[in-house]
Amino acid sequence: MALIVHKYGGTSMGSPERIKNVARRVAKWKSAGHQLVVVVSAMSGETNRLLDLAKSISSSPNPRELDVIASTGEQVAMGLLAMAISELGLKARSYTGAQVRILTDNAYNKARIQSIDESRIRSDLDEGMVVVVAGFQGVDERGNITTLGRGGSDTSAVALAAALKADECLIYTDVDGVYTTDPRVVPEARRLHAVTFEEMLEMASLGSKVLQIRSVEFAGKYKVPLRVLSSLTDPLMSLEEEAKSGTLITFEEDSKMEQAIISGIAFNRDEAKITVMGVPDRPGIAYTILGPIGDANIDVDMIIQNASVDGMTDFSFTVHRNEYQQALDVLNNQVKAHIKATDIRGDNRICKVSLVGVGMRTHAGIASKMFRTLSEEGINILMISTSEIKISVVIDEKYMELAVRTLHKAFDLDQPV
Ligand code: ADP
Ligand code: ASP
Ligand code: MG
Repeated sequence: MALIVHKYGGTSMGSPERIKNVARRVAKWKSAGHQLVVVVSAMSGETNRLLDLAKSISSSPNPRELDVIASTGEQVAMGLLAMAISELGLKARSYTGAQVRILTDNAYNKARIQSIDESRIRSDLDEGMVVVVAGFQGVDERGNITTLGRGGSDTSAVALAAALKADECLIYTDVDGVYTTDPRVVPEARRLHAVTFEEMLEMASLGSKVLQIRSVEFAGKYKVPLRVLSSLTDPLMSLEEEAKSGTLITFEEDSKMEQAIISGIAFNRDEAKITVMGVPDRPGIAYTILGPIGDANIDVDMIIQNASVDGMTDFSFTVHRNEYQQALDVLNNQVKAHIKATDIRGDNRICKVSLVGVGMRTHAGIASKMFRTLSEEGINILMISTSEIKISVVIDEKYMELAVRTLHKAFDLDQPV
């Protein structure tokens, strides 16, 4: 008997028929003798609907109340699934994050899980129940409802699997695994049988929304065996077949079946670029510009300082688009006059495209091939950043799909390894 955590996303829970299929799949695993904890997302579109509803009342909704509202989507889904499982003759019980006591900090809208009390879940499992838990939510020390950021149900599932020391965490979604890039953008994208934890961490942080980044961080920290697979297959397919489908996140590079240099391409349109023009090139300038940005709790991603000409330089960096206006305001109000910058320019029509692969460590020439491929398409690179296993470029967002498709082909990602 194994303890398995399943997670079903919005599309997988998207209609009563799909919820009944989830119940059939869960019942199949339970009947094979396993203990099952099932984490659910809200039905597809529901979280957006709830957030829009809040914005129709207030243009800058109170973050605490926003979490009270946004968390209800998962509460509905968990009740529906528990009912559907009971209809199949099994015992099931649902819990909100607060009922389990998934304790988080109090950073509303992007709270972090601090601890999980597994006692209630364990005693239900011992009684033969299937336990259904609402994803995406927790509760802070004072009993306030919190949510974990968009896509946060992945994190709820992996954190529960870690707390319960589950044998495996299966993330069921609307694609049958992790692909070389988003298959909705590049139909030739190929499913990876395995991807290393490090690569998955980079892909998630660079924009592949198939797993929320924090879920991958948890999996790495607690070594949770993790697999991404489809919820849209026949729910009654054999367990053996299902257990080896999808994509396994591995912790050992050696055990990786495919040894491609590049494993995948990630992209995102979530960032904006800001340039502070004509600043004196002297020690402390980066701190003078980025200090107030950090004080305003705005995260900075890429940073570039140009070579100085006559003691003057330009300083560029990127921030999340949601925080773009706030960052511009901080610079204009607190920094510009202070450092006598000639201008502050912003561009929120950019995107970041990244190549990811542990094979880069041992292969030279990847960056130059990337830059050549983009230049042959006439795509101008605005910023570059690299690490041991990734290269990211910032380009004009109108070239995003062209860049991803061309790079996918140039690096033979559509070819079997
Ligand atoms: P869920 O609701 O199940 O959490 P998400 O929409 O959050 O599902 O994540 C699944 C989606 O992630 C897929 O439909 C796909 O469009 C997108 N995606 C982005 N990059 C990748 C990738 N490299 N491999 C697979 N899917 C990806
Ligand atoms: N329902 C939440 C969202 O749409 C959480 C999730 O789906 O993982 O972001
Ligand atoms: Mg998701």
